[in-house]
Amino acid sequence: MAEPYLGNAKSTAEILRKYDFVFQKRFGQNFLIDPHVLEKIVRAAAVTKEDLVIEIGPGIGTLTQYLARDACEVLAVEIDKKLIPILQETLAPWDNVTVINEDILKMDLESVLREKGEGKLVRIVANLPYYITTPIIMELLEKKLPIHSITVMIQKEVAERILAEPGTPEYGALSLAVRYYASAEIKANVPKNCFMPRPNVDSTVITLTRNERPSVDVRDEGLLFSIIKASFNQRRKTLVNGIKNAAFLPFGREEVEKAIVECGLPLTVRGEALSLNQFAELSDALSRQYSIKDRAE
Ligand code: SAM
Repeated sequence: MAEPYLGNAKSTAEILRKYDFVFQKRFGQNFLIDPHVLEKIVRAAAVTKEDLVIEIGPGIGTLTQYLARDACEVLAVEIDKKLIPILQETLAPWDNVTVINEDILKMDLESVLREKGEGKLVRIVANLPYYITTPIIMELLEKKLPIHSITVMIQKEVAERILAEPGTPEYGALSLAVRYYASAEIKANVPKNCFMPRPNVDSTVITLTRNERPSVDVRDEGLLFSIIKASFNQRRKTLVNGIKNAAFLPFGREEVEKAIVECGLPLTVRGEALSLNQFAELSDALSRQYSIKDRAE
């Protein structure tokens, strides 16, 4: 059984030199060079020999080697074609890894999971390219793919936004969306010197474990997320103004005020003060009003 040999500054520098590799800032390339952090990520993800792991952005294959050691199968999706020959060399000792040269945001993950995921627990594990952190997390959750957990290295500041409580400046649409679909747990904080090149920001490893069912019941999930979007688009405005001003929502002032009162909230309340449960109650109150109006017309 092959053992990971990447994951330190020396071997990383050697392989990069061998292939004349130039880091691409636009792809968020900060490679891990600390074996303790790599072991921590794999442990945080709780990878087992029953699992299919999807790795987003394998880079030169450092984390991939650790994942291949512990998982049944690894699919590593890398956008940068210059890294593919390097990955062919560094991952040669493992026959359970497939490298896919694609943009994860454009890939049809649903078909891949249908084909490869049967009978396996699917885990996403990645040292994410930071420029796609929020879109990729949102996409993985919203698409309701059969994914058990997502363990990713992200900017510390984004991890704080995910875990933020109502009424704090970090609280927003991302905090609410993650809470709706998953439970989140911080697994490690990682200093800048564990990467090559060093990023400008501190990093955190976080695990999102998908809930079997959304954590609140709502009549209309689309409406719930539109209300959340409207509330945080105009963060400094009252909830009434945020919802009534949103072009993508059909409610007038009177309807919004009625629903807010029905939920026992003050008319001056701002969206940032509401918990996920309160947003769900408000969404249901507005949805009921709408169906009553529909029936009357
Ligand atoms: N996993 C490696 C490690 O930890 O050393 C590299 C992590 S580096 C932060 C992010 C990687 O994601 C880079 O290899 C980059 O080329 C790749 N990447 C960036 N955007 C991507 C995308 N849209 N789809 C797939 N891979 C992407």
